[in-house]
Amino acid sequence: MPRNAGLIWIVEDDDAVARLIGSTLERYDFASERFDSGEALLRQLRQRTPGLCILDLGLPDMDGLELLRQIRAQHAFGLLILTGRGDTYDRVTGLELGADDYMVKPFEPRELIARVRSVLRRYQPALPGTQGEAPRVAAFAGWRFDSATHDLTSPAGQTETLSLAEATLLRRLLERPNQILSREQLLDGRNLDALDRSIDLRVSRLRKRLEENPQHARLIKTVYGAGYLFCAEVVWL
Ligand code: CA
Repeated sequence: MPRNAGLIWIVEDDDAVARLIGSTLERYDFASERFDSGEALLRQLRQRTPGLCILDLGLPDMDGLELLRQIRAQHAFGLLILTGRGDTYDRVTGLELGADDYMVKPFEPRELIARVRSVLRRYQPALPGTQGEAPRVAAFAGWRFDSATHDLTSPAGQTETLSLAEATLLRRLLERPNQILSREQLLDGRNLDALDRSIDLRVSRLRKRLEENPQHARLIKTVYGAGYLFCAEVVWL
């Protein structure tokens, strides 16, 4: 099936929003095509696939989560949900069904582009010689984390240096935000039994540093029975 890795599909029934997404993409040199219903997208998918699809959840003919499930049953290209629905249930279900990222409207054009690029990178084979140029500073929710020095700077500008264990965990979360990560993934699969509890311990230490109220965590959410979810827009600089 023909696959156009540079093409972005927009599934959005609201004309004004679709135009805004399309013009944002165009400004950053991405070609896009727009579909105003789930059925229109599924029809095209029988013939060709894009590099990435930006998917609204509130569609006139079907729920976007159902459309997502049908796409993922057959295709592996980038999927970014861009929706007015910001509740945890939709977010978690969308990510569980295989969306690569989740954004809530209204969107910041530059953030949309950063996330589009990040999803597209995930689907690209690694290029030789690019490892040394990986970005090392992550910005999220007003915080900054330098993955080389382990310095964590708060929105108020205070810097603390994290322990190696905390820094490693935070880096894993920041590398894959808005995805459910199991304890095993957070530990890299090593010595799971012994370290299972230590992950929870490290998470609670990180929460004490990052969260206003560690009992009601907003950044590092627990997904019961599954693991943890880092809920923030992360931009690597
Ligand atoms: Ca809609």
